[in-house]
Amino acid sequence: MKICRYNEDRLGLVEGDHLRDVSAALEKLPAVRWPLPVGDLLITHLDEVCAAAAALREKAPVVPLAEVRLNSPVANPSKIIGAPVNYQLHIDEALRDVDLHQNRKVLTIETAGPFLKSVSSLVGPGDGVSLGFPDRRHDHEVELAVVIGKPGRHIPRERALEHIAGYAIGLDMTVRGPEDRSARKSLDTYSVLGPWLVTADEIADPNVLDLEILVNGEVRQKSNTSRLILDVQRCIEFFSSFYTLRPGDIIMTGTPEGVAPVDPGDVMTARIEGIGQMDVRVRRD
Ligand code: MN
Repeated sequence: MKICRYNEDRLGLVEGDHLRDVSAALEKLPAVRWPLPVGDLLITHLDEVCAAAAALREKAPVVPLAEVRLNSPVANPSKIIGAPVNYQLHIDEALRDVDLHQNRKVLTIETAGPFLKSVSSLVGPGDGVSLGFPDRRHDHEVELAVVIGKPGRHIPRERALEHIAGYAIGLDMTVRGPEDRSARKSLDTYSVLGPWLVTADEIADPNVLDLEILVNGEVRQKSNTSRLILDVQRCIEFFSSFYTLRPGDIIMTGTPEGVAPVDPGDVMTARIEGIGQMDVRVRRD
């Protein structure tokens, strides 16, 4: 199932070039009051919402995807976890380019560990990316994004796939400079998730997916998740040794080679096999 959030908190089932408006399925979510539960409510109750969406599907209004504004499929993650340097050819380019390494030692991912991006940086493809710091270089990073469904800490790799709600395309936008990763990757709009959530049952093996990003129609990054240094299961195992993974948490699994600057006016087109494609506009506010 492909579940999207669109326009003003509406819920859609994506089918080809259109969606079915199944917003009534959101009535399955419990009413909450302060203090809110940690984690994303929709993802916590995804099974009930999907069952309700399936029941509504036949009579649900059809809306062309071209006519909607797509939001991040996860509204309220408790954290966005980034995997640094998780493709060898990206490490190689980071070692060659002073803009990327900034004279810092390039560590292995097992040594560096995960980093966190602010949850306030999260947007959907329809929101676009707004560049900060006009004098700096800003790069795209296309990544397979894993959305956690079942909570867990110290999850062994053999059980890791059971904890996944689904997958999406992630853009881990980055401003170059001397600061820590979490600062440079947490600007407003610097985490893009979309175009929708593909439920885990649709992707038998997340470690064999083609991924790419084009800027203004020109291919910049093109690889396959089989080249991940830590594969999806190991990311879950490793990162859950640091913190409890909660429903709605997003893991951006790392970016392949070809990271490059974007400028206001650019259009990024990101694709991942089995998930889909999204166009994301770059601007400066
Ligand atoms: Mn990244």
